[in-house]
Amino acid sequence: MKLKIVKGTRDLFGDEVSSFQFLEDKAREVFSLYGYEEIRTPMFERTELFAHGVGQDTDIVGKEMFLLEDRRGRSMALRPEMTASVVRSVITGNHMQQAKHRRFYYMGPMFRYEQPQKGRFRQFYQIGAEYFGVSTPDSDAELLLMLRQFFKAVNLKTVSFQLNSIGCQKPECRPSFKKSLVEFLTQQKEHLCENCTRRLDTNPLRVLDCKEESCIAVTKDAPKIYEHICEECSHHFTELRSILDDHGVVYTLNHKLVRGLDYYSRTVFEVYSENLGAQNAAGGGGRYDSLFEIYGSPIIPALGFALGLDRLAMLIDMEAQKPEGIFVIGHDRRVVNRLVSNCREAGYKTLYDPFQSSMKSQFRQANKANVYHVLILGDDELKEGKVSVKNMTTSDQTSVAIDQVIGHIKSELSPEK
Ligand code: AMP
Repeated sequence: MKLKIVKGTRDLFGDEVSSFQFLEDKAREVFSLYGYEEIRTPMFERTELFAHGVGQDTDIVGKEMFLLEDRRGRSMALRPEMTASVVRSVITGNHMQQAKHRRFYYMGPMFRYEQPQKGRFRQFYQIGAEYFGVSTPDSDAELLLMLRQFFKAVNLKTVSFQLNSIGCQKPECRPSFKKSLVEFLTQQKEHLCENCTRRLDTNPLRVLDCKEESCIAVTKDAPKIYEHICEECSHHFTELRSILDDHGVVYTLNHKLVRGLDYYSRTVFEVYSENLGAQNAAGGGGRYDSLFEIYGSPIIPALGFALGLDRLAMLIDMEAQKPEGIFVIGHDRRVVNRLVSNCREAGYKTLYDPFQSSMKSQFRQANKANVYHVLILGDDELKEGKVSVKNMTTSDQTSVAIDQVIGHIKSELSPEK
């Protein structure tokens, strides 16, 4: 049998894992400042959860879900995104009974059957947050402020926000705009791509974010949705923009930004970076006040975002790792093992050569390992019951009694020094 990794998946290790961990740690740190708590939902759910919530006419549900059948023939889907799962959890777990508003964040793998390319995978990772119970524009602003703080914490300067409002379902709001949009697009139907000709009937808003050049040319002069939404939605959007301005949040308005999913209302936003190439969206989100209703539950105002961890990891410049830990060199396996154990139990990352190669080779490995200290147990040291401790940052070498090594290392590393 020839083993092969599944298309669109990859193993994460080395620098990439370090970048993932760094981003995850910073997200935990920043999100908790805003009162978010972590939620972990199952990796798969009943397919209908996504079919109803995300929407039948979206790419995700239409063609990108990984489906499984359980032994009783029920259709299950590997989660393609997590908002639907978190909302399901809020409903099935009655989370809103304990508080009027709740904030959750999550991180983990998602699955979409997409054509893999740079920055696009079939198993990819997201960090996201969902805020339930509050409908005022301050909560939309808070989410964007939290994102800005997160990007600052991970030292990402190349990201920019784009903002739009897609209104609500009231007849005089989005539905009325859709009508004018369809009228506008129908006049130029012959210039639309095949997909968008179909979307004219099924989901005309999606024509606005089509990436085909001919469609981009058509929609350039399309009516702007944020100028046609109802009074309440318009007020919400103006308020949000003024709060963002107060806080000096930089964003651009993009009337073509609609997000692919059916459940959004009012605020939608995306985060971009020019450094990402073709797949330049680092994340996106918005308000989805009507999603609970779609699931037959009383309405709970909600909003959230998801960031693509794989893509963020491509953007961050990890600082060169500082030297850390200890490498023990020597030929006497028993003494080496004992010293290694003592160091590890004292709380130091400690490495050694399990093959006990030549001393020269062990020195080479120690140099490569980027450790702070090398402990040398040569023949002379062993005879005297001592260890040579080499500080790799200063190259100083001292001879220390074996039972005093830990104390010596501790004093060298103590912050008072
Ligand atoms: P979405 O909700 O679909 O806009 O996804 C949010 C973010 O997840 C996107 O902006 C991307 O950064 C990331 N993302 C979505 N799909 C993929 C994928 N197939 N591979 C890698 N990242 C993805």
